[in-house]
Amino acid sequence: MELLKQMEEYGHQQIVFGRDEKTGLKAIIAVHDTTLGPAIGGTRFWNYANEGEALYDVLRLSRGMTLKNAAAGLPHGGGKAVIIGDAKKLKSQEFFHAYGRIINSLGGIYYTAEDVNISAADIGYVNEVTKYVTGTPAISGNPSPFTARGVFLGIKAGAKVKFGSESLAGKTVAVQGLGSVGYALCGHLHNDGAQLKVYDINESAVDKAVQEFGAVAVTADEILSVECDIFAPCALGAVLNADNVANLKCELIGGAANNVLVDADTGDRLRELDILYLPDYIINAGGVINAAEEVSGQAYDAKKADAKVDKIFDTTLKIIELARARNLSTYDAAEQYAMNIVLSRR
Ligand code: NAD
Repeated sequence: MELLKQMEEYGHQQIVFGRDEKTGLKAIIAVHDTTLGPAIGGTRFWNYANEGEALYDVLRLSRGMTLKNAAAGLPHGGGKAVIIGDAKKLKSQEFFHAYGRIINSLGGIYYTAEDVNISAADIGYVNEVTKYVTGTPAISGNPSPFTARGVFLGIKAGAKVKFGSESLAGKTVAVQGLGSVGYALCGHLHNDGAQLKVYDINESAVDKAVQEFGAVAVTADEILSVECDIFAPCALGAVLNADNVANLKCELIGGAANNVLVDADTGDRLRELDILYLPDYIINAGGVINAAEEVSGQAYDAKKADAKVDKIFDTTLKIIELARARNLSTYDAAEQYAMNIVLSRR
């Protein structure tokens, strides 16, 4: 594996591999860039098929955090960690202590937080052995409600451009993934008058959305081709590629999942199809904005975090305008916007 070559390709600063014999911990921590400040990014616990898959994920996700944190105006660089294995079998206080010791050994260039399969309680255990952690249960807690509100505001900004009004009343939104963020997003959309079409592999989440929001349940295949105004991917990344976007029957895409588009070509293809794509890391930054508030050096204030999340609306408009002015896809415009912030500080 040409690891240093891959680091060069993605622009990484440091990668740390950690393991603990006793608890079975296996982790990879990728610090992508600390130009703007200590890196922040969550830890993902996933049963990857192999190490190559885990490495690919952490390299892409940590780079995405550099872009996300920069575009959100945070004084933080980007990093991310993955823990390899079955979360249901491995999790324990001792396990997270072992993980926390590895985080601590980085001396504060990386702050970790929640991500897929990592709860606020798990982060609490990590925090028992290191201060380089945020999203702790006693302070800023679960980032998902902040993420969901940011995604909602980003979608409203997109609707303003695409449909001439930020109100989502009467619009149909297809939501893929009804977890912490997706379900909370459904609540915002429903309150704003949107109709919902939903899919999750977890049937009870679907049943709940049908009951609570009058959502229409669709199948796994249908969610990517169902008639709707807006598609909100809130499950996994890489759900859209240059081929399958032709099946979409929406005019706007905005969701919580990271790395929704497989590559920049997919962004170009969406532009050709006149589907407005709201870059994931621009609109899903609410959680990290809240997490950054916890390590700001001042007492945590949820209202301050909320006020910063509000700005996602304007940042989204800015990216759409930049794309129009530079004749780019919104995917490329967001990348230029965020990378320029980092490069201007080097
Ligand atoms: P979660 O684990 O709570 O929810 C994910 C949901 O997706 C679950 O309900 C799961 O059953 C469902 N799912 C899994 N595979 C699916 C599939 N193939 N089709 C449909 N549904 C499927 O995670 P979350 O915290 O809600 O995060 C959702 C996405 O948003 C993730 O990609 C995450 O990385 C991203 N994200 C989350 C936050 C946050 O604050 N939680 C912040 C930024 C980005």
